[in-house]
Amino acid sequence: MPGFDYAPAPESRSIVDIKPSYGLFVSGEFVDPVDGTAFKTISPATEEVLAEVATAGPSDVDRAVQAARSAYASVWGTMSGRDRAKYLYRIARIVQERARELAVLESLDNGKPIRESRDVDVPLVAAHFFYYAGWADKLAHAGFGPAPQPIGVAGQVIPWNFPLLMLAWKIAPALACGNTVVLKPAETTPLTALVFAEICQQADLPPGVVNIVTGAGETGAALVNHPAIDKVAFTGSTEVGRLIAKAVAGTRKRVTLELGGKAANIVFEDAPIDQAVEGIVNGIFFNQGHVCCAGSRLLVQESVADQVLESLKRRMTQLRVGDPLDKNTDIGAINSAEQLDRIRRLSEIGSSEGAERWSAPCELPDRGFWFAPTIFTGVTQAHRIAREEIFGPVLSVLTFRTPAEAVEKANNTPYGLSAGVWTEKGSRILAMADRLRAGVVWANTFNKFDPSSPFGGYKESGYGREGGRHGLEAYLAY
Ligand code: NAD
Repeated sequence: MPGFDYAPAPESRSIVDIKPSYGLFVSGEFVDPVDGTAFKTISPATEEVLAEVATAGPSDVDRAVQAARSAYASVWGTMSGRDRAKYLYRIARIVQERARELAVLESLDNGKPIRESRDVDVPLVAAHFFYYAGWADKLAHAGFGPAPQPIGVAGQVIPWNFPLLMLAWKIAPALACGNTVVLKPAETTPLTALVFAEICQQADLPPGVVNIVTGAGETGAALVNHPAIDKVAFTGSTEVGRLIAKAVAGTRKRVTLELGGKAANIVFEDAPIDQAVEGIVNGIFFNQGHVCCAGSRLLVQESVADQVLESLKRRMTQLRVGDPLDKNTDIGAINSAEQLDRIRRLSEIGSSEGAERWSAPCELPDRGFWFAPTIFTGVTQAHRIAREEIFGPVLSVLTFRTPAEAVEKANNTPYGLSAGVWTEKGSRILAMADRLRAGVVWANTFNKFDPSSPFGGYKESGYGREGGRHGLEAYLAY
């Protein structure tokens, strides 16, 4: 591999104490599921079994919802915002104190590089709790009327790509507004949510305010369909989002859906090319491309396309793929065998439909789930790899000549979650941002997240906003 040789720099996993098995977190305690069934969670980098985790059936979900209802009625729904904030600040501080442990555990269970879990995921988790702690006693000034009220019990279902961060996006605003929650983490990445349950205990959070039920889609469906929840918050695929929208239609439940994406990352000829190349790499290879807002379609102006592609390929040969716990690693493991199959299948379709495939030369480990960073050139708008979410380290490259063509192509997608614009002209950034049908538009950067800024989609990327002041709205009755 060109570039530097690095000595391995593995982060020690001794800081994490993974238990052989985990129960469900209901009413402030870990309990066994009623029917006693469990599933295994593995490290996608080694296929090693990390732990056994309980599967929550309908009666377990019911128990968790009842716990949340009673905590809502007896303590949390009536507690002052000032007091709720104290708990949220406490949780935020404990997350910071246990940051290294959480980062190692996230990398083990998810496969993401420790550099990202340590420097992005976990700091953002703490930041979300700090941010929403700040809102808890100021809700009357948030723009939702003089006395906004909590909704009740929220049923929250999250995906595997940012397990703890998605938990924070869901739980922090819900609790700040006075709601209680039942959260279901994804079946391939339940472990950090279960350590978060321990953090709730450590913070002396009143029992039942946060309940965690583990399991697969059936557990999620049992939660979403439970008659005693007041609000559904879902992040995941558009396919499941549709099922959920149908399931709650006609009920009194409020719902927010954060779904898939197929973002355009648009590079104009006047962009600082080296900086743009870094942004392209960050846009699609961050978190192995398992990012709903990933810049998975590169739209590059024809006049600089060759130059950009040459630099991009050179940069890609320097990406280090491998052990997620090694601090030098840029790209870790694909989260599951199933996801790897999907990435392979769509990549094969890309080649068979006529796009040209190029993968960075790199040695992939023998065990575990891996995919080399890959780009497709000669992609047309009709190709499936330009239309469907691959959710992996695969970039589809298209070109354009004029800003109008860039807008047309960028918006030619069923999704509308994010977009990126690279240019030195401020006026062009504003004009493009105005015309792009995307919830977030980044300018001369990509994949930047902050708790104070709202996030969400248009079209099949879902509805509702999370983050920022806007993120409070979904959890308030006003
Ligand atoms: P998924 O939809 O398969 O699963 C998401 C969650 O839903 C999991 O916890 C799963 O167990 C649960 N689930 C599955 N079937 C269910 C059902 N019928 N009822 C209720 N819950 C059910 O998605 P995934 O593969 O875990 O995640 C990847 C997807 O998530 C991608 O499409 C990605 O774009 C999207 N995503 C979106 C955002 C966003 O903010 N818009 C963020 C992260 C991921």
